[in-house]
Amino acid sequence: MTADCVFCRIVSGEIPGDFVFQDHEMVAFRDIHPVASTHILLVPREHIGSVQDLKSGDEEFIGRLILRAKALAEQEGVAERGYRLVLNCGVYGGQIVPHLHLHLIGGRKLGDSLG
Ligand code: AMP
Ligand code: ZN
Repeated sequence: MTADCVFCRIVSGEIPGDFVFQDHEMVAFRDIHPVASTHILLVPREHIGSVQDLKSGDEEFIGRLILRAKALAEQEGVAERGYRLVLNCGVYGGQIVPHLHLHLIGGRKLGDSLG
């Protein structure tokens, strides 16, 4: 837990989150500023700053995070038409919240541009 980290505060329950999944190692909640009808953030309970802070040994966790996103896409009814998974990393990558999170975005046809 990092006291000034908004996602640590959501994980701890200090700030409310619209949770759609929780287990011992990750939580998933709806983005407060959704860019599509489904916009969910999958967040490790542990404070990991970004992809750059992942270590050897985190492979299986990241695999489970992606597989959970797949399951949530199915649960949300967006899997058949398709969706986007996004991991922003660092300032040039557009990362605003410095606690690793995987965006699951679906429900409309997204643009082809990656920015
Ligand atoms: P990123 O640019 O990848 O760091 O994305 C951070 C995301 O967190 C943005 O899409 C924000 O809308 C979202 N966000 C920030 N604060 C909250 C919050 N309190 N609850 C839910 N989503 C949030
Ligand atoms: Zn954090």
